[in-house]
Amino acid sequence: MKILQANNFDLLLNILKENEYEIIGPTIQNGAIVYDKIESSRDFPIGYTDKQTPATYRIEKSNNDAFFHFVVGPQSWKRYLYPPVQKLFTAFLNGNAIKFEKEEFLPIKYAFIGVRSCEIQAIEIQDKVFFGGEFQNNRYKTLRKNSLIIAVNCSKAESNCFCTSMESGPEVKSGYDLVLTEIIYDKEHYFLINSGSQKGDEILSQMNLLEADENALKLGKDVIEKTKSQITKHLNISNLKELLLKNIESSIWEDVAKRCLSCGNCTMVCPTCFCMTVEDYTDLQKTKAERIQKWDSCFTLEYSYIHGGSVRVSVGSRYRQWLTHKLASWHEQFGTSGCVGCGRCITWCPVGIDITEEASKIRKISEYQNISLEEN
Ligand code: SF4
Ligand code: SF4
Repeated sequence: MKILQANNFDLLLNILKENEYEIIGPTIQNGAIVYDKIESSRDFPIGYTDKQTPATYRIEKSNNDAFFHFVVGPQSWKRYLYPPVQKLFTAFLNGNAIKFEKEEFLPIKYAFIGVRSCEIQAIEIQDKVFFGGEFQNNRYKTLRKNSLIIAVNCSKAESNCFCTSMESGPEVKSGYDLVLTEIIYDKEHYFLINSGSQKGDEILSQMNLLEADENALKLGKDVIEKTKSQITKHLNISNLKELLLKNIESSIWEDVAKRCLSCGNCTMVCPTCFCMTVEDYTDLQKTKAERIQKWDSCFTLEYSYIHGGSVRVSVGSRYRQWLTHKLASWHEQFGTSGCVGCGRCITWCPVGIDITEEASKIRKISEYQNISLEEN
């Protein structure tokens, strides 16, 4: 474990640039912390923090100059690995012949800096979706294999975080190339930095940093313990898959439909959601057409459209689809939960619907039904 002084953070950024990485990290834009291009340490939200509750997100000045004293914002890294809009191909009509031109993509080497533990787990879940099986998404796979993950241990939790329930955080344990722990203590401000891969070793070896002493290592552990102690939201995942699949006809789904706007916000902000659609556009002369892939949402009526109509016509059925896919059938499809407990869907739901509360209601109803059955 090495020490990188906060006032020397540009050393890391410069070495990343020398190694031809395009650096993406947290920045402040339009009142939120979003991931964008980083040129220098001044681009980070230094001295800002966030406040999140169901349906509420605010950034505000904090009482220190921390680079990473906030949790996850409305965007996730899927924005870069799996962009919201991608052109797939262009077709040209030339006489009676049609020529197809596949859209090439730039195999950018991204260095993602400030990736949280739950977000690494989300990326690994999308890896399974996009190249873990028979059908491979070459664009995603290339960008992912080229990317460098510079993780950060969370130094605070917000009220919507429940990573401890999903065993996805707050401590970064695997899946990183480099990991940072930010320490502000007794007028000192530095980062513990460690490598977790050969790519990470290569960057670290170019930095010529001092080893961390015992005291710094202890302060690093304290940061993680303090963050863990701040997590108040929990989801009991024991038998959850079975409980949800047994309650497909529960009245809970129609109850949540009375509040759900079917806006799809929860799916857009979710770091694991991957639904997409394709749209074709033609020019007015009808000589050129483009096929565009766009993020879609299981909350739209059109998403479940098959010949003859949509399968999920009610809002309740669409909410049920989303929640049961995340927490139940995802296990069957990809061998893991589809939720990492990042809390984004709770923060960004305009009416504050909370996935942990809805899943808990199903558990309570089931327990009540079991008691009633035993009594009878
Ligand atoms: S379902 Fe909600 S809490 Fe779970 S990973 Fe998606 S956005 Fe995060
Ligand atoms: S649960 Fe909330 S964010 Fe999701 S579709 Fe319904 S209203 Fe929108």
